[in-house]
Amino acid sequence: MGSAVRAAVDTALHDWLGKRAGLPLWQLLGLELPPRPTSVTIGIGTPEQAQKRLQDWLQQIEVKAVKVKLGSPQGIAVDQAMFDAVLKVLPSSVDLSVDANGGWNLPDAVDMAMWLADRGVTYLEQPLSVEADELLSKLHQQAPLPIFVDESCFTSRDIPRLAADIDGINIKLMKCGGLKEAMRMIYTAQTHGLKIMFGCYSNTALGNTAMAHLSPLAHHLDLDSHLNLKNDPFAGAAIVNGALVPNHLPGLGLAYHAA
Ligand SMILES: [Mg+2]
Repeated sequence: MGSAVRAAVDTALHDWLGKRAGLPLWQLLGLELPPRPTSVTIGIGTPEQAQKRLQDWLQQIEVKAVKVKLGSPQGIAVDQAMFDAVLKVLPSSVDLSVDANGGWNLPDAVDMAMWLADRGVTYLEQPLSVEADELLSKLHQQAPLPIFVDESCFTSRDIPRLAADIDGINIKLMKCGGLKEAMRMIYTAQTHGLKIMFGCYSNTALGNTAMAHLSPLAHHLDLDSHLNLKNDPFAGAAIVNGALVPNHLPGLGLAYHAA
């Protein structure tokens, strides 16, 4: 069964469990709110498009963290031009991270890690392609930034082989197959001394709310996809001071309204 289908069943069961107990899932798990702020994402585009996207985000919500997508097929000079454009409109207090989505080779990844560290980036996600996992140890030795993996790490079973060569993992509900496996990944990562981030695909508020319940356990959060939707059929966790905060209703605290 595909991971997204397993995630659907698992998420519904966690919602039911919370409702049976009369507690929001975060409380049932003994967690405390609020979580850290979530980042908002700037996709690859021209420097002008990237600036416009950031300006739109700044108008939409209180932005405390920004994730910039790099790894342009046109090379790192194009990445640097786009990143510099973002920096020009970025408020100074905003936390900054970069996701290369596997777009760099090893020399470019080392160069970019140094270049981005000089510009205040906090961590670097998936700099190398999945096929280049064996080069992570060389990158890890040379890069001045924490290295997180996303596409290289689907479930808890992927963590032990990667752990020595990375600093953290990106957990996604639809990628790992549910909240139970997400918890298993968290505990496996903690055992290996790794940091944890939560990400998303093009989830509605349902998927991001589900992960928001676990989010006090994460060091970095990137749960912004539903904020891009015009007619999200779900409402749940809400943005408060830049953080995606679950409510106090039992279960996941979701409301559904047909679009
Ligand atoms: Mg990613």
